[in-house]
Amino acid sequence: MNVLDTLQRPLRNLRVSVTDRCNLRCAYCMPEEQYKWLPKRSILSFEEIARVVGVFTSLGVDKVRITGGEPLLRRELANLLRLLAANPKLADLALTTNGVLLVEQARELREAGLKRVTVSLDTLSPETFRALARRDDLGRVLAGIQAARDAGFPELKLDAVMIKGANDGELCDLLEYAKSVGAELRYIEYMDVGGATRWRPEHVLSRAKMLERLAQHYGRIEPVREVSTAPAERFRLPDGTVFGIIASTTSPFCRSCDRSRLTADGMWYRCLYATVGINLRDVLRSDASETEFAELIASSWRSRADRGAEARLAELSRGASAGREKLAQNPHLEMHKRGG
Ligand code: SAM
Ligand code: SF4
Ligand code: SF4
Repeated sequence: MNVLDTLQRPLRNLRVSVTDRCNLRCAYCMPEEQYKWLPKRSILSFEEIARVVGVFTSLGVDKVRITGGEPLLRRELANLLRLLAANPKLADLALTTNGVLLVEQARELREAGLKRVTVSLDTLSPETFRALARRDDLGRVLAGIQAARDAGFPELKLDAVMIKGANDGELCDLLEYAKSVGAELRYIEYMDVGGATRWRPEHVLSRAKMLERLAQHYGRIEPVREVSTAPAERFRLPDGTVFGIIASTTSPFCRSCDRSRLTADGMWYRCLYATVGINLRDVLRSDASETEFAELIASSWRSRADRGAEARLAELSRGASAGREKLAQNPHLEMHKRGG
């Protein structure tokens, strides 16, 4: 079954946030001193998440990525992965983590059926890590990456948000590190997502600049020719090393976007920038049948016209997409709630 939206984009990819809490405070995501957390009673149980995912997979979703906040803070996360891995319609089950707790959990997650792990790693310098993530955990993250390797995940990716004046001097160091641990690095352009209240256009290191600087160091860089709906464009260095760039800010990929997001409290957003979501928690906790549930999701997807990042691009010399006041009124706009 393939449900298409108004731009013929299929419903295929679901990001599931399991918590809005985080053990880091990345300056580009959670810059404030205080946050209001989602109330416990509103957080979906693992059984509820598995049921919603079941409805989505009946409508054509075959890729799920677990995220947050920091997903490894959710207790007994492996139990959720076991439930999801038992769904035969799910071809891909992945997780994005900041890596701080991977040492303790990598093996169990792998055994529970997790197929792919992406670890966010923006710097190799302890000082820059402290400045960017506002915690002193670089050592734990690097050990976590090693633990993920040892656990035998067939695919390991590292995601680095590149910010001018913060970590842009580390383009090559990060790539060398990724090579050394057998991971594929993806550079991410700094985005003005909800929560990134310090975002300024001049902080964005564009894909074009990244490629220019990498070519100065490594020589000719070739694009990898492939047909894919994945947001990362992939490139190859002369020595064969492949890396990706997610140019969400300067070259958004909305036209092929098949992803939507479920928050830890069951709000469903059809776009990262959407200001209005659909409350699936109330549907889950009502006596709606599976058919009614599926029809609600399918009809909402059919009416989807979102192209959030493209709309943002059209606004020249913009500031952050939502200031602190707007976020206080609608905390679901924050990236750590919405699920990165
Ligand atoms: N806490 C986990 C982590 O950091 O990997 C998962 C959630 S986090 C919101 C998911 C991804 O969003 C991370 O790779 C993070 O770097 C990215 N992200 C957060 N804020 C961003 C921003 N302003 N621009 C680009 N990427 C951002
Ligand atoms: Fe950083 Fe991820 Fe936490 Fe945001 S949710 S502060 S990106 S670790
Ligand atoms: Fe998809 Fe919205 Fe991101 Fe565009 S901004 S790629 S439509 S989630």
